[in-house]
Amino acid sequence: MQRRVQSRVSLPAIRLDTDYLNSQLTSPPVLQFDQLPIEWGDLRFLLRATASAMRSHDALDDGDFRRVETLCRDAERLPVALRSWYESAKAGAPEIHPDAAGLEPVILQAMRPFLTRSADAIMAKNDLAAWTHGTCPLCAGDPDFAVITPAADRILICGRCSARWRFHQLTCPFCLNADRGRITSFASRDGLYRLYACDECERYLKAYDARRASRPVMPIVDGVATLPLDAAAIQKGYK
Ligand SMILES: [Zn+2]
Ligand SMILES: [Zn+2]
Repeated sequence: MQRRVQSRVSLPAIRLDTDYLNSQLTSPPVLQFDQLPIEWGDLRFLLRATASAMRSHDALDDGDFRRVETLCRDAERLPVALRSWYESAKAGAPEIHPDAAGLEPVILQAMRPFLTRSADAIMAKNDLAAWTHGTCPLCAGDPDFAVITPAADRILICGRCSARWRFHQLTCPFCLNADRGRITSFASRDGLYRLYACDECERYLKAYDARRASRPVMPIVDGVATLPLDAAAIQKGYK
């Protein structure tokens, strides 16, 4: 459903030239909510479809399912809730609006085509090489996957908009702990994946090791293929 919607999403309302985008990297996030090419009919469709799929797999309770339904019928509250969700990733942002609180996983999936389309359009003009931080320069989200390139660089992938940017190989992107003795890193048995866990903030990040791979990283597929790594990390007390 996301792919179907994404094929018809228009470009974000932002100047797509390299120099302008570079200048915006000094006052992130680059992408503002009002610039997102949201088509509200498609968004409501994705919210309902995601909520329905999650409910039938026991990933959403009936109360939250009804909240999504109510929100989709309210043309005034819906944009307010979504803006709050989008802007809540930014450091120092106000607490997420009560209409969006608890519905983050549903909103994330429904917003993905609009966010990914925007990030792709920006990355086509700017490789984000000037960005050295642990959070996403475009939407302020956290990375939720990474890829290790054949040159042994580590590229982080935003969990919201899928933007990619290079980051230090071992430093924790969440708390910037750079003490190698306080980072636990191990590979999956087949060597295709790697996990970095931070002993300071206790968070972890999974990576696809493209040095050993015959195909590019596919974050959604690889995220599922690495569930055993999540289990191993959670068992060791990381989150
Ligand atoms: Zn992002
Ligand atoms: Zn950390």
